[in-house]
Amino acid sequence: MNTLLPNLSAEAALKPEIARRRTFAIISHPDAGKTTLTEKLLLFGGAIHLAGEVAARGERRRTRSDWMEIEKKRGISVSSSVMMFERDGFVFNLLDTPGHEDFSEDTYRTLTAVDSAVMVVDAAKGIEAQTLKLFEVCRLRDIPIITFINKVDREGRDPFELMDEIADKLALELSPVTWPIGMGGQFHGCFNLTTNDFHRVTDAGGTGYGGTTKLSGLDDPALDAAVNGGVLEEFRAQAELATSALPAVDMESYREGHLSPVFFGSALRDFCVADLLDGLAAWAPPPRPQPAGEATVDPNQDAVSALVFKVQANMDPNHRDRIAFARICSGRFSRGMKLNQVGTGKSLAVTAPIFFLADERELAEEAWAGDIIGIPNHGTLRVGDTLAERTDLRFTGLPRFAPEILRRVRLGDPMKTKQMRRALQDLSEEGLAQVFRTHLGGDHIVGVVGALQLDVMASRVAAEYKVTIDFEPAPYATARWLGGDPKLVKAFVDGNKSTVADDVDGDPVYLARNAWELNYVRERNPDIKFLETKEMR
Ligand code: GDP
Repeated sequence: MNTLLPNLSAEAALKPEIARRRTFAIISHPDAGKTTLTEKLLLFGGAIHLAGEVAARGERRRTRSDWMEIEKKRGISVSSSVMMFERDGFVFNLLDTPGHEDFSEDTYRTLTAVDSAVMVVDAAKGIEAQTLKLFEVCRLRDIPIITFINKVDREGRDPFELMDEIADKLALELSPVTWPIGMGGQFHGCFNLTTNDFHRVTDAGGTGYGGTTKLSGLDDPALDAAVNGGVLEEFRAQAELATSALPAVDMESYREGHLSPVFFGSALRDFCVADLLDGLAAWAPPPRPQPAGEATVDPNQDAVSALVFKVQANMDPNHRDRIAFARICSGRFSRGMKLNQVGTGKSLAVTAPIFFLADERELAEEAWAGDIIGIPNHGTLRVGDTLAERTDLRFTGLPRFAPEILRRVRLGDPMKTKQMRRALQDLSEEGLAQVFRTHLGGDHIVGVVGALQLDVMASRVAAEYKVTIDFEPAPYATARWLGGDPKLVKAFVDGNKSTVADDVDGDPVYLARNAWELNYVRERNPDIKFLETKEMR
């Protein structure tokens, strides 16, 4: 019997399912319109029927209302989630990235789980600090970008000036897809340069979306009837220049990260949101191979594998449950499947996997490479875990970064030491902050990349564990994981008890008081590696 046959046919069945998946994130600077665009994508994707509320968020707010207070107060989104919807035969998995710069580590991890990104830019502001930072992460990870220049219904900057700025700051070629017909008080709608679709405003001077007409081209007389003379003349001149001077979308160049298709539109007023979805369907890459050390894992492989890129604890404060968010990296997963938690020797029956749809959750009976499933668990799953039918596979590329801010934890009520330890352990396993335990004194040191994480940590410990903690200065400026010959590392640890701590996995870290000390110790110990990142377990 030919044992190759069943596998081959299984893989052939996989391919079309995987090819129709688009797993992406939206990156932007706060206030550019990411939330609004998310809602509208879900609306146009048919996932929700009423815009104005992303129901999944609403639910999260209710169950996590306490610590979400911070989010409300600061007006930022501090946790990421996942939304799945289907449109025109394509399955979209939209991963929400936290918008604040302090959350670069969490954002970084979320971006490891997507195949492409949509960059939202405010038409009045252009490229802002956080957009740039997130874009750089995308570039580092070869994530192709589609640009959405939002809020053209308001007074914005000249479209060419915006295009130039983006091209210069991001070193990208840009390819215009939709173009605004006037902006602000002169806004008349948008035009799709590739399909000749004219998205009209409801009435002259209004900004509401009044429907779409397919035209014959830029010269179509319907435009003359609908758009006032001066605005139309300027639009035609711009659109002609844009199509002649700028390249058309070249899928390969886009997927390689050299070119970005650009959509001008308005998330709030519904302009060009459907065009953006069509663009994602047509050009954005399907699930890509996932790095595993030197090798990569082909998504079309029959054997199922998944990577946990995010863990969220206490989604329901009444139950100490956690949801591990796993990206299926290869194959077709089905509910009840037993997967190995690679590296621990344990195997896990995934009996209650969850899909996060826009306004509800659903048991995931089957999922394909590119999909994100939530796996409820009691702390067994951690960020960075590989789950696979095979036992010899380990995904890489989800590092922890050396924290730049270190603080000693001070406990309000000394009777609550146990709860505090539990809280710190849980939240550090979730990846919210890193927690180190000093060898001498057993202090708990919390390490973060951005200061806001400290507030979130204290607030969540109070809300979810009923323990009051605050943070006091610690005499350390940075931490480095120790690597190299285990014997030498042990000798170093024994000789430097006052400056060594354990991380949450029990791995030793060196805590340096300042950069000078770090250099000095590094020079004195040339055989030890002082590592700025650690691959998660
Ligand atoms: P986020 O911080 O990036 O998630 O931004 P939001 O989606 O919360 O939007 C920030 C503000 O911009 C809100 O007041 C939105 O109503 C507004 N906004 C978003 N999109 C548009 C748009 O297309 N036109 C206009 N005029 N306002 C918009």
